[in-house]
Amino acid sequence: MTPTRRGPRPLPALLLGPVLLALLLAPTGGCGRPGSPPAKGPRAGDLAAYRVEPAVSLPASPTWTRAHRRGRLVVGVKDDQPYLGERDPATGAYSGFDIEIARMAAASLGFPAGRITFKAIASANRETSLSNGQIDLYVGTYTINALRRRQVGFAGPYYLAGQGLLVRRGERDIHGPRDLSGRKVCSAAGSSSIQRIEADYPDAKPVTYDTYSVCVDNLLTYQVDAVTTDDSILLGYAAKAPGELKTVGRPFSREPYGIGLSKGDSALRLALDDALVAHERNGDWKRAYDATLGLSGVPAPAPPPVDRD
Ligand code: GLU
Repeated sequence: MTPTRRGPRPLPALLLGPVLLALLLAPTGGCGRPGSPPAKGPRAGDLAAYRVEPAVSLPASPTWTRAHRRGRLVVGVKDDQPYLGERDPATGAYSGFDIEIARMAAASLGFPAGRITFKAIASANRETSLSNGQIDLYVGTYTINALRRRQVGFAGPYYLAGQGLLVRRGERDIHGPRDLSGRKVCSAAGSSSIQRIEADYPDAKPVTYDTYSVCVDNLLTYQVDAVTTDDSILLGYAAKAPGELKTVGRPFSREPYGIGLSKGDSALRLALDDALVAHERNGDWKRAYDATLGLSGVPAPAPPPVDRD
């Protein structure tokens, strides 16, 4: 595959590639560059632990029963999505809004933060991991949709995202999905984002990888012209590399995020729906948003209503 070059490389070739992305995305703690998170304000590490429900018993839920016997809740997440689900390679610690939602859910199910095992699972492997019991829950920018509902269950939604586009800062021609004709657009395999491009913008040239961070690497090295996925994810990459990347256009889909669970475990779904409502009401949701996703520049929206159908 020969990359199409549309302009001079903005950075020395030696720095490009995964090393560059790792440098760009290294947690900065607010370094004062334009577009970078404010130096003051809450950080995920400052968040208080969520109140762990004492004496939870959910015998009607096979997943809860299995996790209770094991003494740990296994949660599938993303590990390379800034402000949403990120793993610090130095410490192995996970942080981000999805991670906080997972911690809230776990606390309501009787599991303190120390009894959660996070497992990074790519978009394409979510349904299989839930159906074969490799994970108990999935919390990672997981859009609730009819196709997926055939294979897994969902609690929530707990957040509403929309599909967007990320391009290099010097890009002049891409303002929205209609400008993707003949251009290489990268997204994760198995995502609703790539499915929408293939269905609605057939003249675009889709390129897929397991993760969005690989797509961003490819964007920085001129292998692709744009990255497409949820605005929440793209804003995180843009905020960490404001000199190199920008988001363009308006959201062109609705992506309600749910907590994925095993299909048919309605006792667990009910418990998680109740948990989300309780954490939204008591302020945990807003505090978690402000300390994580809010750092990419968008003030906390009202959470979408939980869908109990
Ligand atoms: N929310 C979209 C999805 O579930 C895109 C983000 C992702 O791949 O996690 O497919």
